[in-house]
Amino acid sequence: MVKPFVPQLVYFEPGALEYPLGKTLVNKFKEMGIETRQTTSHNQIRNLPGENHFQKYRIAKSTLVVGVRKTLKFDTSKPSAEYAIPFATGCMGHCHYCYLQTTMGSKPYIRTYVNVDEILESAENYMQERAPEETRFEASCTSDIVGVDHLTHTLKKAIEYFGQSEHGKLRFVTKFAHVDHLLDAKHNGKTRFRFSINDDYIIKYFEPGTSRLNERIEAAIKVANAGYPLGFIVAPIYLHEGWKEGYGEMFQKLEAELPSFAKKNLTFELIQHRFTMPAKRVIQKNYPMTKLELDEAKRKYKWGKYGIGKYVYKDEEQADIKDTLGGYLKKYFPEAKMEYFT
Ligand code: SF4
Repeated sequence: MVKPFVPQLVYFEPGALEYPLGKTLVNKFKEMGIETRQTTSHNQIRNLPGENHFQKYRIAKSTLVVGVRKTLKFDTSKPSAEYAIPFATGCMGHCHYCYLQTTMGSKPYIRTYVNVDEILESAENYMQERAPEETRFEASCTSDIVGVDHLTHTLKKAIEYFGQSEHGKLRFVTKFAHVDHLLDAKHNGKTRFRFSINDDYIIKYFEPGTSRLNERIEAAIKVANAGYPLGFIVAPIYLHEGWKEGYGEMFQKLEAELPSFAKKNLTFELIQHRFTMPAKRVIQKNYPMTKLELDEAKRKYKWGKYGIGKYVYKDEEQADIKDTLGGYLKKYFPEAKMEYFT
């Protein structure tokens, strides 16, 4: 069982201490006996301990940096939402395939931002621009926000903020089961709480440092009991020997354990495994023993943004994934909505 994240080392930007959350966190970490240091900027942590890349990378993944979010312009977040809302960056998990490997390549430490009110004000402006249309905000584009939220309660605040909002909706996804502090948040049904799930093989070999499938399902049941709209993201869908049976067992287990009321307003998002060449280089450096198959010759090239294309499964494999997982969904969750396969 993965315990809730406790950082080994915490850095503070001086500006963060001007915010109530910054003050609360500095006291909290001192009381917990965790070493705290100052940094001039949350983008420049230069003196992380560790003698070589391998050690530095692992220490960075257990280092928290408390800072002030300067860019209050949000990125778009298709297909799951209109905007990405930035409460944190980075993650304590060690999923080999993680998209953060490339986007955060040189800064694998975890950053949390204390100017939560300013971030929410910015969200308010985006909502007003689109009103009366609804605006959805995705809170897990740059981190697994639930993994760090038991320390900061930022997400809880955001859930309650969107709970009150007329045109806004919040959504996020997690591989962590540490959800207890979020169960009494006044969400008013405006937050879709999603869990990222996968078959046993993938969780075992590629997702170290995250909660196991049965823990995620237990947490999902708590979340459903708390009245949140619930969803699952099956990602990355990865073809390994026995994948059809593996995913079949995963859906079967989920169906057997979820209470029937939770199966009513359920969403599924399906995302196939993909990688870019820069990601492949970073993955092989950070996880040199990985079994993850990253052979571009076996994949289809798809042109991407900024000239960096990605390697996805070949058309016939994609069709097989869609048929197989689509079939499981029809069989086990006929009332659920499949939002997309990408
Ligand atoms: Fe990346 Fe999510 Fe795994 Fe964290 S839990 S390492 S964000 S894939």
